[in-house]
Amino acid sequence: MEYEPVIGLEVHAQLETRSKIFCGCSTSFGEEPNTQTCPVCTGQPGSLPVVNQKAVEFAIKLGLATSCRIAPYSLFARKNYFYPDLPKGYQISMYEYPLAEEGFIDIVVEGKKKRIQIIRIHMEEDAGKLKHGETPETEAFSYVDFNRTGVPLVEIVSGPDIRSPQEAGDYLRKLRAILQYLEICTGDMEKGTFRCDANVSVRPTGQKEFGTRTELKNMNSFRHVEKALEFEIKRQIAMLEDGEKVIQETRLWDVDQGITVSMRGKEEAHDYRYFPDPDLVPLKIGESWVEEIRKSLPELPDKKKKRFMEAYQLPEYDADLLTSTKAMAAYYEECVRLFPEPKTVSNWMMGELLRELKRDEREIDRCPVTPEHLTDMLLMIKEGTISGKIAKDVFVEMYRTGERAEKIVREKGWIQILDGREIEKAIKKAMESNPKQVEDYRKGKEKIFGFFVGEVMKETKGKANPKLVNELLRERLKN
Ligand code: ADP
Ligand code: MG
Ligand code: ZN
Repeated sequence: MEYEPVIGLEVHAQLETRSKIFCGCSTSFGEEPNTQTCPVCTGQPGSLPVVNQKAVEFAIKLGLATSCRIAPYSLFARKNYFYPDLPKGYQISMYEYPLAEEGFIDIVVEGKKKRIQIIRIHMEEDAGKLKHGETPETEAFSYVDFNRTGVPLVEIVSGPDIRSPQEAGDYLRKLRAILQYLEICTGDMEKGTFRCDANVSVRPTGQKEFGTRTELKNMNSFRHVEKALEFEIKRQIAMLEDGEKVIQETRLWDVDQGITVSMRGKEEAHDYRYFPDPDLVPLKIGESWVEEIRKSLPELPDKKKKRFMEAYQLPEYDADLLTSTKAMAAYYEECVRLFPEPKTVSNWMMGELLRELKRDEREIDRCPVTPEHLTDMLLMIKEGTISGKIAKDVFVEMYRTGERAEKIVREKGWIQILDGREIEKAIKKAMESNPKQVEDYRKGKEKIFGFFVGEVMKETKGKANPKLVNELLRERLKN
């Protein structure tokens, strides 16, 4: 039997406000433990929360950017449970009345647009952090750091519309791009500002009803989300094949072993005894404020991509990649402004540039090759100063040293050979050392031509102008 996975994702994104969601404490990361705290975020008696307007504005931005309906009335609720990182004994979240509902995000699956529904977006506060450990001096310890307690989050719940781990990854990348374009979240999974819980079930292909799902936690990179889903889908299929039932539960991704392990039975919403927080008034968001925020939205990934395809005549694949982050799109546009050959720039960015960035795990905003440096080099190719082949080495040098192409080419003597006499010399040598091939060529074995081009290039260390080599070689080989 064939099975089909069904996936729905819950993403927690940390909003980049300067202060926390219900108090004035700083959200600054990496400070000494428990220095960014006050009576409100540590749950002291008599303290009262006040909602951070900037956090609400950011959440509305995201709601609009994902085509959600912004609720004119939403309500903070208490989600009650005990955990040492939760000093109040409840988390302030939203339950019956979320801030935004019924939106969507489009991704591209096998060249076609696929729409993933957003069920809801709600605001909530983050919990603190526990630190467990053991040192020779202290024995085993557990510490709690409340600096993160009360940092604003949005939770974005997708519909069960995702059908493969790859689609899940694409959805997450798109959502993260939107958050980053809006400049409301850094989207860093490793630092935990962008976290994902994945709900997954399988069903026999063709069956309408969903199967029983499990919820996966503890994945701190896109790769791990995809891997955890792959593992879990296989595990569930194997269970069904054996006639067993999948149990609804929360499972943890074990990075080292590459497996998911049971963590706890699935809790239900009613277990949390949600009720409206009596310390906070309902959020009534006026239409005029929403419109004001709508007008302030930047150009978002989909729109930018469409513009790139039209204005620069780029294939969808190129446009998709080049608009995947705001910084990359800006880099591209700056290059095209300096060197108006859009497809050439795209090819270099998607090929050499991204390869180097990936190799040392850098984002483009820390790229040692600036748009000026890249386009200077493209101009040198265009003017025939260097060959396209040598340019690849020049680029690697530019990336490594941060120097300009012109300097590198001069110092390394990589200037293209346009001098016919020098190329003739190389041709003569290639022919003399391969008399048999010359004879074969003259007998009609035309394919050997490529071999001679290779020989001449080797002799000139790749510096000969290819067009000139072709012309001269054809002439010489003939007679
Ligand atoms: P809960 O309140 O228990 O977290 P929700 O109904 O809010 O449950 O759903 C949470 C997520 O699980 C959503 O993203 C939804 O799309 C997804 N989901 C719901 N049912 C299934 C299922 N059978 N298989 C896979 N995902 C599911
Ligand atoms: Mg949930
Ligand atoms: Zn505080």
